[in-house]
Amino acid sequence: MLNIKRFILSAMLTLSFTPPAAAQQFISMGTGSVSGVYYPTGFAICRLVNKGRETHGIRCSARATSGSVFNINALKTGQLSFGIAQSDWQYHALNGSSTFKDAGQFTKLRALFSVHAEPFTLIARADSDINDFMDLRGKRVHVGNPGSGQRATMEVVMQAMGLEMNDLALAAELKDSEMTRAICSNQIDAMIYTIGHPAAAITEVADSCAVKLVKISGDAIDKLVADNAFYRVATIPGGMYRGNDTAVTTFGVGATVISTSDVPKAVAYNVTKAVFDQLDAFKQLHPALANLQANQMIKDGLSAPLHAGAAEYYKERGWSPD
Ligand code: GLU
Repeated sequence: MLNIKRFILSAMLTLSFTPPAAAQQFISMGTGSVSGVYYPTGFAICRLVNKGRETHGIRCSARATSGSVFNINALKTGQLSFGIAQSDWQYHALNGSSTFKDAGQFTKLRALFSVHAEPFTLIARADSDINDFMDLRGKRVHVGNPGSGQRATMEVVMQAMGLEMNDLALAAELKDSEMTRAICSNQIDAMIYTIGHPAAAITEVADSCAVKLVKISGDAIDKLVADNAFYRVATIPGGMYRGNDTAVTTFGVGATVISTSDVPKAVAYNVTKAVFDQLDAFKQLHPALANLQANQMIKDGLSAPLHAGAAEYYKERGWSPD
């Protein structure tokens, strides 16, 4: 009897000295196409989160999606817990404006941090006479796949420039996997992409046939940038893609990591902590992330309120995002 008691006592002691296994929590991170920059970025974030899973119990997996607008809608339905989205669409989703007018305000939308800059990028066949956005009139153009940020931003740019879809000879909606073939086999003249550079999707096109990056500027663009805090003038540096040695001016947005207030504070805290505690490692995981700076990441392009978990981490670090 005594022995049994002693056994129970020692079993209890053993139990109480073993740290409780953290409950497993699965989170999904919505990204973009596998040849874009969102996918490797989301993958990098998940990798850093998963390194600490013995401690916090969170298991993160990055999912390929069609991009920003899809990710925002999937956050709303709870299909995703985190996502990457352009700063313009974060703003419009929060406010129920532009593409999100019918959807109304997404009041539960929360921001964590921003990542790389995404210039609105126009790529044309080198043998085309497209040297300006307005030269797209009468041309065959890939206007972005539905659900992507670039598709929605293209509509804004076209409207600002006074160009309609039926002013184009063809408005194609291609998957990333179809783009190279379409432009290199002369089925389209040009394509647009809102993306960080360098991007595998553009490298593949530039390595396969002669293309040029085309500048996007003028009064309408200046007005877009002046009127909207989520846009800024951007430059695609020269030398990033074959045949494009000089820098090209355009405008751009920022890629941001978002979630919702339904995602627990501890989860958002640990995702934020994983990235900022290992920022040097994160920056090395993709060349588009190489120049990230914490003081900009905690505020640039964030229209939605900070997720309480991210805010707690910033407070702990003594960082103030305002
Ligand atoms: N900016 C694009 C979008 O929102 C995605 C770019 C990428 O995949 O890197 O849809």
